[in-house]
Amino acid sequence: AWTRVKRRLRAELGEDIFASWFARLELEEVNAGTARLSVPTRFLKSWIESHYLDRVLNTFRSELEQVARIEVGVRGTGAPARPAAPKPLSAATAAVRAPAAPAPLTAPASPSATETDAPRGEAGGDLSGAPLDVRLSFVNFVVARSNALAHAAAERVSRHDGEAPLYNPLYVHAGVGLGKTHLLHAIGHAAREAGRRVIYLTADRFMYGFVNALKTQNALAFKERLRAIDLLVLDDVQFIQGKSIQAEFGHTINALVDAGRQVVVASDRPPTELDALEERVRSRLAGGLVVEIGGLDEQLRASILSARLAAVQAAHPNFEVSPQVAAYVAKAITANGRDLEGAVNRLLAHATLTGSPVTMETAETAIRDLVKNREPKRIKIEDIQKLVASRYNVSRSDILSERRTAAVVKPRQIAMYLSKVLTLRSLPEIGRRFGGRDHTTVLHAVRKIEKQIGEDAVLGDEVELLKRMLQD
Ligand code: ADP
Ligand code: MG
Repeated sequence: AWTRVKRRLRAELGEDIFASWFARLELEEVNAGTARLSVPTRFLKSWIESHYLDRVLNTFRSELEQVARIEVGVRGTGAPARPAAPKPLSAATAAVRAPAAPAPLTAPASPSATETDAPRGEAGGDLSGAPLDVRLSFVNFVVARSNALAHAAAERVSRHDGEAPLYNPLYVHAGVGLGKTHLLHAIGHAAREAGRRVIYLTADRFMYGFVNALKTQNALAFKERLRAIDLLVLDDVQFIQGKSIQAEFGHTINALVDAGRQVVVASDRPPTELDALEERVRSRLAGGLVVEIGGLDEQLRASILSARLAAVQAAHPNFEVSPQVAAYVAKAITANGRDLEGAVNRLLAHATLTGSPVTMETAETAIRDLVKNREPKRIKIEDIQKLVASRYNVSRSDILSERRTAAVVKPRQIAMYLSKVLTLRSLPEIGRRFGGRDHTTVLHAVRKIEKQIGEDAVLGDEVELLKRMLQD
């Protein structure tokens, strides 16, 4: 399982980021729900803890369900859980941690060399950006009702007509596999073809570039390069973590937008729910055009699938898929475009490996797990409220009411928390369903319960039980 966790991290983060931060990460043990990991230096420990803990935990969980916590220790210093003895931080580490921005520029010329294992990069940080995938162009993007607005806005911002950008920043949000990255790459291609200077970065790349720049004392060059462009495309900004990096992210966006340069951002959630970001940055992100891409309906799935099949068949002329099989796949795989792509790959693997044509039966077997696993039961907020109310001996109307006695507040907060983690509803929507409360009230409840679960094992079990009951 550990090998798989590492492989997935490598695939998700890309080779250079993986090599810089995770290559020397090792699993020591998994005990009572805690996975103890170790790295050789404190710098790596603090970096992974402050930027990648959630990511590592989620990846772990998808491989080993019983893991509920991650601890990172430094090898050769005894028990990982024990706080390390206070040692001076290297200049770069301190700079990364200090929210007061100018630190990196005034740091001593030669950082103490004790823990300098941050990635070494070229001058100015790695700003080549991530490469754009040629397949992800406007030509290959299927437009439907659920993405028409996002598509139109994307086309608009990728066109350069000398005017100040109308929608700036353009903020696209949607669940996984619904076409955000595809649209972002399409914008990048189109703008580059029009001769504009474009940088496409994922959140990981952005963080990596910034830290690299600090490390090599090129923060200024990094910033200058990032700002001397026409279009900045940032993908998956929900992953941008770390105080100084978030501040830099905010400065970058402000500087570009103020200078009339286009910024395009994608995320899995609306800007109001980027909890980790400062309010100032959030409202800046929300201040341009915010568009959501909705789920894929069956017709859109069929179009995406046939486009994907055609592309694969161009390279594998013997690979045939009957219209029936295609229709079955488009009907069965409802979750997202990524799974559709996965399904095509499996059909192809099957056809290539067995040398036999794809029948309905082989198709069914090949995509069975995609169909089953990816269709979680839709849980209704109302059901959550009813279950939690009955479990705590209050009524559902108590939960929706204004009453603030402890006997009602706690189940109400638990129900809000469960609504957030078990449904795809946004915080404002959840607030509305809880008697018209504000989204900040919901956020407060979610954070509070999250914290309490971490501290109180009994409550943790209780919430886990409620989750299971709702999911069954
Ligand atoms: P996200 O970034 O939102 O998670 P992606 O952009 O990576 O999703 O899309 C996942 C897959 O689905 C990609 O192969 C992408 O090309 C495909 N896809 C999603 N939406 C569309 C669309 N409207 N037209 C064509 N392909 C799409
Ligand atoms: Mg994406």
